[in-house]
Amino acid sequence: MTVVRWHESNRERLAELLPEALVLLPVGATEQHGPHLATGTDWFLAQSITERAAFDAAQRSARPLVITPPVAFGASDHHLPFGGTLSLTAETMQAVLIDLARSAAASGAQRLVLVNGHGGNSGAC
Ligand SMILES: [Zn+2]
Repeated sequence: MTVVRWHESNRERLAELLPEALVLLPVGATEQHGPHLATGTDWFLAQSITERAAFDAAQRSARPLVITPPVAFGASDHHLPFGGTLSLTAETMQAVLIDLARSAAASGAQRLVLVNGHGGNSGAC
């Protein structure tokens, strides 16, 4: 079955696919990971895992798989003292995810999977 990136599609293609699709939303964070890793590690991984899983599952999926752009910011207040972190409060994080799900539904999506790449997002997800 088809794998489509939301941001590479137009509204007509999405309107055609979304009612039957499984929408995959990678959720990450931009935060310090010590001196050895980039601050985008959590969203890089969430996006990469989502894409690899979608393309791997495409052969067996009865539904189109639609990948959204990643949420690059997460609930990372516990990393703020170390520097290099851009964080949302847990309440804002939850509101962002609800708004994105609401938006996807308004475009016709009925199934959404959050692919979380950051432990601090677990509650919001
Ligand atoms: Zn993290």
